[in-house]
Amino acid sequence: MPEDALPYDSRVAYDRRRIGAGAIYCSDGRVGEHFDDFLQNGLGLPRYDRIALPGGAACLAGHPQAHLEEQGVVDELQFLVQAHGLKRIVLIAHEGCAFYSNRLELKEPRLTLVQRADLVRAAASIHRVTGITNIDAYFARLLEDKVRFEAVEV
Ligand SMILES: [Zn+2]
Repeated sequence: MPEDALPYDSRVAYDRRRIGAGAIYCSDGRVGEHFDDFLQNGLGLPRYDRIALPGGAACLAGHPQAHLEEQGVVDELQFLVQAHGLKRIVLIAHEGCAFYSNRLELKEPRLTLVQRADLVRAAASIHRVTGITNIDAYFARLLEDKVRFEAVEV
C-alpha cells in the first residue's frame, strides 16, 4: 500500500461555527495562500466560504466568454446565501491574471483597468442576485517578494 493511501489527520482544529462571509477569487494556486492570509488575518474572516475559479469575479462582469461560469457562480452564491447564511462578500482580482490575458485576450495597461471595472460590475451583479449589500473588493498587486492587497471602490 502506498504511503499516501494511509489516512491523514489534519493538525488544523475543526470549528463548526460559520463566519457568514464568502470570497470570490481566482483559482491561481500561486496566490492561494496569500488570499487565505489576507481574508483570515487581514480582514479577520476565519473559515470564510470560498468560490475559486479562473478569473474569480470576472464571470460576473458580463463578458460573453464567461457566460457558462456566470450561471454556475450565481447558482453557488444563491446556495451559500441560503444554506450558509452569507451576509458579506469579498472579491479579489490579482495582477497578471491569465484569465484576462488568455480568455479575454487583454494586455496591460488595459488588462488592469478592465479587472478593476469588473470588480465594480461584479459587485453590482452580486447585489442584484443575492440582495447582499456588504461587498468589498481588492486588487492583489505582485511586488518583488510579496503580495499587497489594495482596496478597490465598488
Ligand atoms: Zn488569475
